[in-house]
Amino acid sequence: MFSMNLLQKKFSEIFGGKEEWIVRAPGRVNLIGEHTDYNGGFVLPMAIDRAVWIALRSRKDKQVFVYSMEYKENRSFSLDILEKQNQEEKKKSEWIDYIQGTAWALQKEGYNLSGWEGAVCSDVPIGAGLSSSAALELATARAFATIGNIPWNPSQMAYICQKAENLWVHVSCGIMDQMISACGEKDHALLIDCRSLETKLCPTPKGTSIIIMDTATRRGLVESAYNLRREQCETASRLLGIQQLRDISWEDFPKKSTVLSDILQRRSRHVVSENFRTLQAQLAMEKQDTISLGKYMNESHESLKNDFEVSNDALNAMVECARNHPACFGARMTGAGFGGCAVALVRQEMAQDFSTFVSEQYKARTTLNPTLYISQATKGAEIWNVE
Ligand code: ADP
Ligand code: MG
Repeated sequence: MFSMNLLQKKFSEIFGGKEEWIVRAPGRVNLIGEHTDYNGGFVLPMAIDRAVWIALRSRKDKQVFVYSMEYKENRSFSLDILEKQNQEEKKKSEWIDYIQGTAWALQKEGYNLSGWEGAVCSDVPIGAGLSSSAALELATARAFATIGNIPWNPSQMAYICQKAENLWVHVSCGIMDQMISACGEKDHALLIDCRSLETKLCPTPKGTSIIIMDTATRRGLVESAYNLRREQCETASRLLGIQQLRDISWEDFPKKSTVLSDILQRRSRHVVSENFRTLQAQLAMEKQDTISLGKYMNESHESLKNDFEVSNDALNAMVECARNHPACFGARMTGAGFGGCAVALVRQEMAQDFSTFVSEQYKARTTLNPTLYISQATKGAEIWNVE
């Protein structure tokens, strides 16, 4: 668990004296809208109450000194020679690359950056699918903006951080993770139109908790399977004569999809129905209709499992355990699939009971040790007022 005290103590131990600022940027979970982003569709994530925190102090020069409490390591770089470094042949990325890449992307955008020294601490589990990477990028951007008096435009900053991850770290992620880590609000999820990048905040249902359930299985197959799914979606779009699967409505799908092979029909049926469900889920949220929201989450899982075929036994077992608890409105896998996390919408006063129940059931069924996070929607990247 994150401790402000420890972070401040660490800063003082490493850099001496006291920090000037503390910034935070949250991890995220996607409630619905899976494998829709690269089809120009809709996603509905929320920022969670786990974040990357940086305690920092400005420097007079163009140096950045960072200590990561997770990696127990000091690293530094100069803001003057970033361009040159990016042209070098890249080796495997390290944690400092997320920070350096964000600096590089901000400079590319025309911002004049100042140096700082800071300690990084986080309670977003790394590599669990809760997007610790986007949280680190947004916290870094918030740090540079704070030190350099750069106006904070959340969606523009999300875009810059995505460039950092795509072009400096060389991970080809979409915009969702950065957008929600930048634009999240307390008690709200965020509908993102991945084509226009328009966003809309929608209230999470009152009296519910979002429970993230890590299956303790990791996505071994994910890269090749992900690429294959993308290709199949592109082929289906071409055969349907549309730019992206976003361009066909759920109503039109049955008659138009007859030109597709069985497998392409199933792949595109997932994407087209998932876009429909995501928009319906947003409407359900507006109406505080928890029952319908849960139902769309359940249907999303079935579609990912049967039509898109990106679930695995562990995810299916976790979802079934969750649904076996009476406080569960709905549950689904979340993220790219083949392992990682599932997410459930649960009656708030039963959240603890639900977590114990699901942990035990899942353990008994799979012999795996799950981790469950009871979470609430929080604000996106921000300066934190200590005291
Ligand atoms: P995730 O699903 O958590 O985003 P990624 O592989 O995309 O997984 O990003 C994880 C990487 O982000 C780590 O390997 C590390 O380089 C960086 N990172 C995340 N959190 C921290 C942290 N607290 N301190 C330093 N680096 C971090
Ligand atoms: Mg990531």
